[in-house]
Amino acid sequence: MSGLRDTVQTKLADAGLQEALGRALASSNAKLETALSELDDVPALKDAAAEIRRHAVGRMWQLLETFEARLRDAGTTVLWARDATDVRRYIAEICSVHKVSKTVLSKTMVGEELGLEQSIKDAGSSVIQSDVGERIIQLAQQSPSHIILPCIHLRAADVGKILHERGRMPYSEDPAELSRGLGKSLRQHFLGAHMGVSGANFLVAETGNIVCVENEGNIRMGYSVPPVHVVVTGVEKILPTLADARLLLALLPRLATGQRATCYTSILGPAPLPGQSRYVILVDNGRSDLFGAGPCRDLLHCIRCGACLNVCPVYQRVGGHAYGWTYPGPIGTAMASMLAPDEAVESLSLCTLCGACSEVCPVRIPLDRLILLGRATARARRKASEVRQERRALRWFRRAMSGRVRYRMSDWGHRLGLAWWGGRVAAMQEKLGWRGERAAPEPAPQLFRTWWSGRRKRGDLK
Ligand code: SF4
Repeated sequence: MSGLRDTVQTKLADAGLQEALGRALASSNAKLETALSELDDVPALKDAAAEIRRHAVGRMWQLLETFEARLRDAGTTVLWARDATDVRRYIAEICSVHKVSKTVLSKTMVGEELGLEQSIKDAGSSVIQSDVGERIIQLAQQSPSHIILPCIHLRAADVGKILHERGRMPYSEDPAELSRGLGKSLRQHFLGAHMGVSGANFLVAETGNIVCVENEGNIRMGYSVPPVHVVVTGVEKILPTLADARLLLALLPRLATGQRATCYTSILGPAPLPGQSRYVILVDNGRSDLFGAGPCRDLLHCIRCGACLNVCPVYQRVGGHAYGWTYPGPIGTAMASMLAPDEAVESLSLCTLCGACSEVCPVRIPLDRLILLGRATARARRKASEVRQERRALRWFRRAMSGRVRYRMSDWGHRLGLAWWGGRVAAMQEKLGWRGERAAPEPAPQLFRTWWSGRRKRGDLK
């Protein structure tokens, strides 16, 4: 746990990170408030969205088969990937068949989860991240720290420096200028790319449509310019109908960026564009485990809006890298506790269980309850000896607190102990790491009971 404590302390002491997070999240949460205030009945809309996702995930495999049939009939190749190894193999085969040596990759969280960029490189192709935020992260050789705002942890000055030093752009601290310059330099990559790779926000079983939302137009360029288009997406993105997608699209941009709608909403048909080859890779990578994991199945309802990160008081201070997993924040912690329990042990303790994430979630995922469940599972996995020790200590504590005489004795014992062995107790607490975050409070000069009976005797109480 000391690793996590050090990480948190480092993040809290990082003035640049605090400034970047404070500014970006304050603005995004203010926009969220305004965007939601324009809707008539947000709770009813959230109920409907939750019901759509519950229904879709409940029939996920059946809907995916219908979706696959629509795409196959229209000439799109559908591939099923159990894990990152399968994706890697498919990418290698596609690159080899189409002689791909230049790829533009649009922002996709499932791609981060699978190490997609490396898989494409290993298949012999160069990779340019086409989303502005992702491109900055790629140049900085970092990982994204937010689901939809990958470089939220950087200030404009940091971005200016990265683009100047690694992207050969003139130094600037003006976000509009930086974004314009980067957009211009990306254009040539789109024009020369052999393959465009993107994710998807929703897959529609009824019509075989693939829905992608974005603000920069890079996904649109990525699927329309190169001769090969590959969609890599999680199986849980499936929806029954386009009407379902329309309802979720009323919430997704508002919750994600406080916009009524993103600048571009692409609804791709089931067929590839003329003269193009299209592949859709449907990725499981642990999702079947979530599907069969009782209440944790709710995690598959997530539409990756990122709102739970924005409102989380812990994320607001430590940022996404502190969580140490692909998906940060409340949704990441809950998912990691199921899919990568060994990696999640530390981040589970970051949560304060305040419930702000569950409250904001547009599809009503009970994130705080799932994190609590994750803690119970992590506890059950701990060594039996540790659990025995903890139980013994709690048993002693309960005994000491549950009888008047024992309570008094423990209080006196505590005071005497501090008076006689104060230095040693402090040293022991130090050693156990108890005083890492806060100093132990000094005992009050007199017992509460003594103080109370003194007031009584003096007649201060009626
Ligand atoms: S858990 Fe809910 S709030 Fe968090 S990213 Fe998913 S849909 Fe959005």
